[in-house]
Amino acid sequence: MTEKQPGREREKRLFLVLPCYNEEEVLPETARQLKDKMDALASRGLIAGESRVVFVDDGSSDRTWELITALHRENPLFQGIRLAHNSGHQNALVAGLFTVSALCDMTVSMDADLQDDIDAIDEMVEKYLAGADIVYGVRKSRTSDTFFKRTTAEGFYRVMNHMGAGVVYNHADFRLMSAKALQGLMQFGEVNLFLRGIVPMIGYRTDTVSYDRRERFAGKSKYPLSRMLHFAAQGITSLSVRPIRMITSLGFFIFFVSIVAIIYSLARYFTGHTITGWTTTVLSVWAIGGLMMISLGVIGEYIGKIYLESKGRPRYIIADYLKDAQDMPDLIDRKGRIK
Ligand code: UDP
Ligand code: MG
Repeated sequence: MTEKQPGREREKRLFLVLPCYNEEEVLPETARQLKDKMDALASRGLIAGESRVVFVDDGSSDRTWELITALHRENPLFQGIRLAHNSGHQNALVAGLFTVSALCDMTVSMDADLQDDIDAIDEMVEKYLAGADIVYGVRKSRTSDTFFKRTTAEGFYRVMNHMGAGVVYNHADFRLMSAKALQGLMQFGEVNLFLRGIVPMIGYRTDTVSYDRRERFAGKSKYPLSRMLHFAAQGITSLSVRPIRMITSLGFFIFFVSIVAIIYSLARYFTGHTITGWTTTVLSVWAIGGLMMISLGVIGEYIGKIYLESKGRPRYIIADYLKDAQDMPDLIDRKGRIK
């Protein structure tokens, strides 16, 4: 990558990065539509001819990798990165972005199921050429979602922001990042990378493009409720310590309530009304026991994070990279970062 001078025209090599986990049903159609899109972008002069589409196979157990290999053989537009095992959507994305960052000028990350509107890419690239380093794809509405997905997703953004994990509203992982922004992202050494929360911390000039999210046209969602809840907990605990502070406040509150209760029972005792029922006692033991367990769980979650971070395990391991013969991706260090 060449250093960009202010005012000089920006370099235009675009790499699209799509994580794929068991996506054999959607890949051929995705590839067809993306090829048309890339051709159109190149003919409009928005991107360079050496732009690429990179599928990151996140340890699929179906024919995803075979399809990617075949696509690459047919057309050098398509590249593939195969991870050694299933590392999750976020890590697959990071693997793709970091691997190609030295080869391109900008990247656009999107889902393989074409839920993200590929026609929004034009506007993203235009905003990049106008000087933005990060362009967020933001959903206009959620009418294509089921009622359940819509309510849980809206709750997700509300809880996230309330917990001090600032995320861009209705923005998932459909975004353009310049090579410069990626260099910034690579400096975040944490293993628990929650991209939606970290990318806004990079700084640089940002912009947004709004689009309508479509329905997945084939295959099923890999994000059932349990995985979404896990994802939200990951996001909150990797970005904010507010839950721990809430526990402390709760502790103070309960302590205060117990003082009031003690004064009340003593007053009852001295006025001759001894406490008769054990219901209240038993109930409060349960209530406090439950609160203690929740609190320990939250603290445990953070300790678990520290444990994982201290081990510094790699986020992903690359098994294969199908690339252009002349491109030499840099060596990848043990954290999966490019040296
Ligand atoms: N994905 C992945 N690894 C996983 C789960 C999902 O790479 O462990 C990919 C998946 O192939 C898709 C994207 O992440 O391209 C989003 O997943 P999905 O469409 O299932 O999620 P949803 O759109 O339902 O939230
Ligand atoms: Mg999807």
